[in-house]
Amino acid sequence: MYTVSLNEGKDKAARHHHPWVFSGAISSVTPAFTSPDYARVISSSGDFVAYGWYDGKSHIMLRLLSWDSEDTMDEGFIRKRVRDAVVRRKAFFSMPGTTAFRLLHGEADFLPGIAADAYGKEIRIIVSARFADIFLPVIAAELDRLLSPSLIEAVTDRQYASAEGLPERIRTFIGGRETKSAERGSVRFMESGIWYEAAPGRGQKSGFYCDQRDNRNIVEQYAAGRRVLDLFSYTGAFTLHALRGGAAEVDAVDSSESALRHLLYQVHINEDAGVIPAGSRERTSITEANAFEYIRGIEDGRYSMMILDPPKLAKTKSMAENAMKAYKDLNRVAMMKIADGGIIATFSCSGAISREDLRKAISWAASDAGVEAEILRTLSAGEDHPVRLSFPESEYLKGYILRILR
Ligand code: SAH
Repeated sequence: MYTVSLNEGKDKAARHHHPWVFSGAISSVTPAFTSPDYARVISSSGDFVAYGWYDGKSHIMLRLLSWDSEDTMDEGFIRKRVRDAVVRRKAFFSMPGTTAFRLLHGEADFLPGIAADAYGKEIRIIVSARFADIFLPVIAAELDRLLSPSLIEAVTDRQYASAEGLPERIRTFIGGRETKSAERGSVRFMESGIWYEAAPGRGQKSGFYCDQRDNRNIVEQYAAGRRVLDLFSYTGAFTLHALRGGAAEVDAVDSSESALRHLLYQVHINEDAGVIPAGSRERTSITEANAFEYIRGIEDGRYSMMILDPPKLAKTKSMAENAMKAYKDLNRVAMMKIADGGIIATFSCSGAISREDLRKAISWAASDAGVEAEILRTLSAGEDHPVRLSFPESEYLKGYILRILR
């Protein structure tokens, strides 16, 4: 175990349980770094602050794991973190109509750099830190012991692969043991009574965005009779909810052709299953386009509902300023184009953009578009994606339901 001593005055965030410590806060590490290991973290005056994981090669050198000096740092500790996170989600295992949800949400569940989602009988893991890569076999074994999934598949988060020096690969675990990854079919699962299929190891994130579950149900409540534009639709989860809510028509736009084709497929299987109204196929259209450009060309007043769910526009704090401009511009154009009384569901999933920032961006947008906007609902990720107060970055998904008045 390393001993990491923090610079004078640089222990405040750590004492307040923020889990990340960057190189600038570290005064010394003993012994000298060779390979990643647990660390005892002390203040400049030598008192215990926390236990963590020290990795001199990670872009976050020290990741704090426990603030209890009595804890023992070993595999059992990691297994307990996994177990506790799963137990906290007990209610999800018996939720009617939903078999996809998040089991482990990284730092918010005290396990840095790992996200694990249940999809029916399978579990998908996304690894975004070397810590998670190293402990993956332990975490997979514990998930297997607790839940007996048919298979666990782990993929590297491409966004962090180079910063963390992570190999981009897919690892498969069956019966808790790592096996050779093989070509497999897709997995079918349900969210809020709607069927989905996700291709393993492909697609984005872990193949589906289960953080929007609650918000899709809210959007559905406003969709009746509306002409809906689902921008950044991916495989159409919002489209499916709008259809179930009685939308007159839904136009889905995304830059990914394969996602759009999959969207149509999912409309088909749900119409066939009687989950969405008959005639839904005819009411749905897809367009492969850059949504930021596409929205400029649409007819004024054509849509009475718009869903704006862009990808993460600010990956780091330094990108926040440009991202603010992009959020403002997207919302401004939507507000200019939407029919009077129209509903906009607008989102940001950038950790570096706070809820207040997003609100600022949409209020600038409304002012520039010359409209009034009412906030009808304030939206966030579901509770399987907890927000840890001591880790504000965990509040990454925020959104609003707006009514536009002119
Ligand atoms: N609303 C979706 C998730 C959206 S994720 C759901 O509920 O499942 C963001 C989507 O934006 C991805 O599908 C990605 O392919 C798409 N995308 C990224 N950049 C884009 C662009 N410039 N124009 C259109 N789509 C884009």
